[in-house]
Amino acid sequence: MAYRFRLYPTDEQRTALAKTFGCARYVYNWALDLRTQSYCEEGKSVSYTDTSKALTKLKRDEDHEWLKEPSSVALQQSLRNLESAFQNFFDGRAGYPSFKRKHGKETARLASNAFTLYGKSLSAAKGPGALNVRWSRDLPDTCNVTSVTLTKDSAGRYFVSLTCTEEKDPLPETSKTVGVDLGITDVAVTSDGHKSGNPKHLENDLYRLKKAQRRLSRKMKGSENWKKQKRRVANIHARIADKRNDFLHKLSRKLVDENQTICLETLNVKGMQQNRSLAHSISGTGWSTLVRQIEYKAEWAGRTVVKIDRWFPSTKRCSACGHVRKTKPLSERHWRCEECGESHDRDVNAAKNIRTVGLTGAADAASDSGGHSKTRGAFVRTAHGPVNE
Ligand SMILES: [Zn+2]
Repeated sequence: MAYRFRLYPTDEQRTALAKTFGCARYVYNWALDLRTQSYCEEGKSVSYTDTSKALTKLKRDEDHEWLKEPSSVALQQSLRNLESAFQNFFDGRAGYPSFKRKHGKETARLASNAFTLYGKSLSAAKGPGALNVRWSRDLPDTCNVTSVTLTKDSAGRYFVSLTCTEEKDPLPETSKTVGVDLGITDVAVTSDGHKSGNPKHLENDLYRLKKAQRRLSRKMKGSENWKKQKRRVANIHARIADKRNDFLHKLSRKLVDENQTICLETLNVKGMQQNRSLAHSISGTGWSTLVRQIEYKAEWAGRTVVKIDRWFPSTKRCSACGHVRKTKPLSERHWRCEECGESHDRDVNAAKNIRTVGLTGAADAASDSGGHSKTRGAFVRTAHGPVNE
């Protein structure tokens, strides 16, 4: 788990950070080159340990003395990052590692021996003075910080990310189970009728983003004005991401805090993303991010997430009597069941059906585990919805 905070370095610290970022990038690219050359020309593969030894040699070299200035831990970490990039490549998870470019996001990671954290005073080894971190929230008492990553994004903002090993911190049990329908007008609608809304302010930002991007395309690439405009575009991007994340974090927190079991339909997310006319608003709402957040928060809190991944008629079925309607116009927000006369809000009805299917699945799981259903610690399981229509 990682906690990210905004960082406001002093001028002196900025200079030091720029050096660290530059050296970390240099070492990464240098080692990538070394590994590639050696393999291409001699057919010899170079391991992490080999690069580590070569780095020690390189630093003794007169022309490379400047590599001694930043924390050596950050440089070692570059080699480790490269190693995992190669591992991902060998395992088929990613393409061949590429060189890190000067412009763009810059990072340096410090292992536990390269920073000190006392209470809220954080300083990097060799870095001048304590860093000015905006502690927007408290770290949990159970959190043990194992590494610190310093980042400068393309909008020129600095961040510090603290990676923690964390003890689970279960919440008191509740008996509530909720079904959640993921949608567009509302990112999430729950079976008890709560509607999350969709962060509308994003629309203004998206409009401004489009405008700024258009302006950028009219500037001469590489010119001062182009750089300025590029910074503006990056700023808007960053603001959109911040607002979106904030919204999703609050939503997932609330769902996990208030419910013991959370049932989600995860199949539609994919299906609807293929629908081009809806795609834009969905990518803006970030369903998969929300689902991921609910899952990890549930795990710490000892809650259960039930994912329903088989299609079932959640919007067409009456949650009161089980009657399935033949048609389901997407625009119809309210409808009355022709069988039992119950009137429904489309999304709340869907969420209620999701809850019902999830509960059936959860019951199965409890009996599967031989009565261990009361054990704390979340399990994420997949329930299959009824396929009969
Ligand atoms: Zn009905």
